Amino acid sequence: MSQSILFLAHVDDSGATLPKAAYETLGAAIDTAKQLSATLAIGLVGENVQSAADTVAATGAPMLGVSGPDFAHPRYASDAAAVEAICREVQAQVVIGPATSRFLRVLPGVAQRLKAQVDTHVTSLEVLEGVLTARRWFYRQRLEAVIQREARPWLLALDSGCHAAWTGAVSTAHVKMLTTPLPAEAKRTAFAGIRVPNTDAQTIRPDAKLLFVAGAGWCKKQADGATHLPEAEKVILEFLRSSGASLGGSKSLVDQSGENQAVLGFMTHLNQVGQTGATPRHPKGLSTCCHGEEPHVVGWRFINERRAVNLDPNCGWARGKADVLYVADAFQVMAKLNSLFTEKARTR
Ligand SMILES: Cc1cc2nc3c(=O)[nH]c(=O)nc-3n(C[C@H](O)[C@H](O)[C@H](O)COP(=O)(O)OP(=O)(O)OC[C@H]3O[C@@H](n4cnc5c(N)ncnc54)[C@H](O)[C@@H]3O)c2cc1C
Repeated sequence: MSQSILFLAHVDDSGATLPKAAYETLGAAIDTAKQLSATLAIGLVGENVQSAADTVAATGAPMLGVSGPDFAHPRYASDAAAVEAICREVQAQVVIGPATSRFLRVLPGVAQRLKAQVDTHVTSLEVLEGVLTARRWFYRQRLEAVIQREARPWLLALDSGCHAAWTGAVSTAHVKMLTTPLPAEAKRTAFAGIRVPNTDAQTIRPDAKLLFVAGAGWCKKQADGATHLPEAEKVILEFLRSSGASLGGSKSLVDQSGENQAVLGFMTHLNQVGQTGATPRHPKGLSTCCHGEEPHVVGWRFINERRAVNLDPNCGWARGKADVLYVADAFQVMAKLNSLFTEKARTR
């Protein structure tokens, strides 16, 4: 039986394109379709899907869409109805979508309605001896599962940062629009707005090339016997602004914020990297004033190139956990980096 794959995505907040994770997932879906000699269809959800559809028209895949004001914002009932309608229309054996927060809330529910199986947080798709195989991590990225399923349809939500993004010229897409009437119950939840921290505090940037991690050392007494919190805040924020890096923190540091100790004002539990924190994906990482203990470093699994700055030559990073360890004072190193950024900006 010839196989068919449906790539699903929702329009991003701008309304004009897809989220970055969707282009990555599209790249994976196209590769998978090629390997399985399967047909590929594209399904899009949003207030208006045309501009986003134009960005993927060059794939040549047939496109379907569900649009209208009811589908502008994430809402379980309307998103699930839209995704279900597209899946029923296409009848694909395999459905692949990005693991965005919007889709992660919806895909498992839709799988239930379709009597399908679903796997989320998938990190790779490959075809082994003709069999579609997905991988994902469990137990805080310590165990990797290799999943093959006979059940179809099979819904898969792919994590971001796991595949090169598909790119192609923008051209006019022909999208077959599906009418998806929503019952009144599906509209009970109303979208009120998005609250975001002010720009200075918005320190988590999943698409940044660099993850900058601050540890508890920034708040500890330094060689002069005093803490230097205002200086630490200033130097870190300046570095984040100049470098565009994403900010991570060690558990010790973020816990201090929760305990109302004097700490870095912009550091929250959302920044925590590690076993009980996040496992971000960035090409490079720079750890400062952080010891590099295993429960922290397990969160660095998907950071490709790791560097650390620590006064202690015997810190955890020195034991094979970092590619480069600078045994140095992080206050001095970061101040020097900031002055290099300023100089670069001046001579540009
Ligand atoms: C079940 C469990 C789960 C855990 N989960 C996590 C987790 O998800 N994430 C996490 O981070 N931790 C986690 N931990 C805690 C972890 O084991 C460590 O306690 C924590 O990571 C230590 O944080 P730190 O390195 O910032 O602080 P510290 O251990 O206090 O280290 C501070 C470091 O700063 C250095 N330093 C001080 N001043 C300077 C300076 N001027 N320049 C350079 N270096 C300087 C010191 O040499 C020291 O190495 C977990 C622990 C357990 C038991």
